[in-house]
Amino acid sequence: MSIQYDYEAIVIGSGFGGSINTCRLSKKWPGQVLLLERGKRYPMGSFARSPHDMARNFWNLPQEKRDMPDKLQGEECHGLFDIRNFDHMDAVISAGLGGGSLIYANVFLQPPDEVFDSNWPANAQKDVLQPYYAIAKQVLGARPIPQNNEPRRKIIRTELFQNFAKADGHDSKLLDINVFFGNDFDNPTPIGVQEKNRYGAVQTSCVYCAECDVGCNTHSKNTLDLNYLHVAEHRYQAHIHTQVLAQKIVPIDASGQDNPAMNGEFGYRVYWQDLKDAHKECSALTRRVVVSAGTLGTNELLMRCRDLHKTLPNISQQLGRHFSGNGDFLSFVIEGDKPADPNYGPVITQGTDYNLFKNFDRSKAFILEDAS
Ligand SMILES: Cc1cc2nc3c(=O)[nH]c(=O)nc-3n(C[C@H](O)[C@H](O)[C@H](O)COP(=O)(O)OP(=O)(O)OC[C@H]3O[C@@H](n4cnc5c(N)ncnc54)[C@H](O)[C@@H]3O)c2cc1C
Ligand code: SF4
Repeated sequence: MSIQYDYEAIVIGSGFGGSINTCRLSKKWPGQVLLLERGKRYPMGSFARSPHDMARNFWNLPQEKRDMPDKLQGEECHGLFDIRNFDHMDAVISAGLGGGSLIYANVFLQPPDEVFDSNWPANAQKDVLQPYYAIAKQVLGARPIPQNNEPRRKIIRTELFQNFAKADGHDSKLLDINVFFGNDFDNPTPIGVQEKNRYGAVQTSCVYCAECDVGCNTHSKNTLDLNYLHVAEHRYQAHIHTQVLAQKIVPIDASGQDNPAMNGEFGYRVYWQDLKDAHKECSALTRRVVVSAGTLGTNELLMRCRDLHKTLPNISQQLGRHFSGNGDFLSFVIEGDKPADPNYGPVITQGTDYNLFKNFDRSKAFILEDAS
């Protein structure tokens, strides 16, 4: 009996990993790829701003027992920010179509060669990855903030950081950021004017409102829903389901039945809950699964499959070990000599190199960035 597959591939999670995979796989199998994302879609203008809406802009499913303020305990919210608290680490991650791209700080930075030491697998060395960095940079539209004499494009904090770097004997340069300033690199579209990007999604030339980390309401950030996912959905007919929570992955046997003893050669059944429909359980058969639910979501889902449902019993015991948060430290300068006007311009604009790209020294390498 031949198995009737619903999809060639099911992708779980729509951040950077999930979006690129959805795009590539749906190009190969148009109309036969399903993307499952637990968060909401965010059309232009839909990100929360009022105190009332902001207070509920968190991810909270009562059964997941997040540490929430008292008045939100027990209230189900499908908001943008998922705050996780662990013994030695707290994390802020995103839930929404586009994953972390909806709240990240837009910076497109390639690691220096020295980062890729012998601990990295051969297929993840810099020379192997280089062509893909180039493609991602192009699709995400990474570029520095436009430099011209238009007064509204002047960002005081950028200049202050550059002056500070110079005085401190370091190099500061404008960073590539994934922000839309129009399709013509050399002649930016006037601030606030809308046009279609080269994938067909409408974007607004950045209005310098400095709200990049709480969701860009003018769609000026080049978030994944406006490029990779837009192409996947509109050109290659990928099926995108939002507010659905992947729950379980089970290998199937030659007759299409769930069978945890199988190794995936016949594919899988993926189970999810539809959060828009009273957590109704749904499932589909697929030849392959991409688990791209972010560091925490991926580990959590696979651990459940290994230890709770026992549907993927052979996953390594190393799962969930030896990872860290990213290396960011956030600090504030108060009582500076000059006003920095921090509430103007994309969140990060420049970087000052401290032994990361020049004179690499692992013991003290970092990059100093501004933030609005
Ligand atoms: C405030 C902030 C600023 C940052 N700034 C930068 C920056 O400037 N430059 C940079 O390179 N990086 C930055 N990062 C880091 C970057 O955003 C992440 O590294 C990146 O988003 C990780 O991509 P990912 O695909 O692994 O996962 P994510 O982007 O986290 O996507 C995972 C997706 O899976 C979904 N999901 C999880 N579990 C399930 C489930 N069970 N079912 C269905 N869906 C599920 C989640 O809702 C999410 O949408 C920043 C991060 C933050 C939080
Ligand atoms: S500054 Fe950030 S939030 Fe504001 S329009 Fe530009 S990209 Fe969007």
